[in-house]
Order: sequence, then structure tokens, then C-alpha cells
Amino acid sequence: MLKPTAHIAEVHSGKPFAGGLNLIFLGPPGAGKGTQAQMLIKEFNLPQISTGEILREAVRQGTPLGQQAGPLMAEGKLVPDEIVIGIVNERLTADDCQNGFVLDGFPRTVPQAQALTKALAAQGKRIDKVISLEVPNEVIVERMKARGRADDTPETVLKRLEIYARDTAPLKNFYAREGSLAKVEGVGTLEEIYAGIKHAIGR
Ligand code: ADP
Repeated sequence: MLKPTAHIAEVHSGKPFAGGLNLIFLGPPGAGKGTQAQMLIKEFNLPQISTGEILREAVRQGTPLGQQAGPLMAEGKLVPDEIVIGIVNERLTADDCQNGFVLDGFPRTVPQAQALTKALAAQGKRIDKVISLEVPNEVIVERMKARGRADDTPETVLKRLEIYARDTAPLKNFYAREGSLAKVEGVGTLEEIYAGIKHAIGR
């Protein structure tokens, strides 16, 4: 009998993008996930699913979701798993996601990643590549000073980096075990970084 890990390695090797291009962008706040995701969705005509954007829009609209998420986001804390999992699961069943998608900012915890695997499996799909944008903390802190979003205050940025290291960075091991992790240098010009991403997805 195959060991569970051997089984996973077998299932995930050698058959790239059978069901489209299902991608995740992973990386600390300010790594450039959103920017690079934008470049990719334009070239490959894929939908971008950014949980941060969806939540910020809910805050702007003052919906019940926004009222719950807003204060947590302002403090640099994560929104509860059940909430973001529900948002993404629903979004992934939409027509425009059937030939691929780019997730940016989700999953951010191991339970979110497990829920995603399960939701995709229910549709006969899986994640093809997880692009981990590698950017040192010093560079992040400098970039965030320039960005100036409401939740980009120095204290909040440090809090988010701490939460990233604790809750999100373990996802690299999670996806490395599945064979889908690709680390990409996240420091350089936009074009250099994008070239690294295209190389990682074999396009
Ligand atoms: P960044 O990557 O710069 O931190 P995002 O736009 O991805 O920015 O997220 C902004 C905020 O939205 C996060 O700090 C968090 O409060 C909330 N958020 C976004 N995605 C998730 C998620 N998958 N799980 C929990 N909270 C999330």
C-alpha cells in the first residue's frame, strides 16, 4: 500500500494544468502579490480572487461582513477562517473560475488551505502552482511606508508580518509536500519578478 505522502506526490507530479490554470499567490503583506496577480490575469485572461479586496469592498459598503471584518483588518489581525472560506468557496463555483483563477491573499492559514483543497476536490480540481513571492522583511517595511493604505501604519505592518510568519508561512511546507510550491524572487523590477513567475508556471 502507498503511504499517504507517496500517493500525493504521485497525483501531483507531471500533469500540469490539466483543468486550466489554478494559481495561488503567497507572500508577506507588501510582497507584491496583488500587482503581479494583475499582470498575470491580464495576460492569461483569468479572474483574480483577492480576499483583501473583497473584504475592503465590504467595509466600504458597510455590509454586515464589512462591519465584522473592518476592526480586525484595521488592527492587522486575520478575519476568521469560516468567513473567508465561505467567501472563496462561493466565488470558486462561478462560471468565470472554471478555466482557472488566481487567488491572492487566500489561503492564509493551514485550515484555509485544507478547506480550499476540499472545495476544489469536490469540483474535481486542484491547485496547479503556489507562487511564493520571497521578499525580506526589511524590504517589506520600506515598501509599506510608500504604500499608505489605511492598515499600513508601522504598528499594523509589524503585526501583519508577525501573523504572516506564524500562520501563513507554514503553508509553504503544506504546498511543498503537495509538490506545487514555487519560490520566486520578489525583489527586482516588476518585469524581472514577472519573468520569474512565468518561468515557475512553465509559460
Ligand atoms: P496584505 O497582503 O497586504 O496584508 P490583503 O489585502 O491581502 O493585504 O489583506 C488585508 C487584510 O484583510 C488582512 O490584514 C486581513 O485582516 C484581511 N484578510 C485578507 N485575506 C484574508 C484571509 N485569507 N484570511 C483572513 N484575513 C484576511
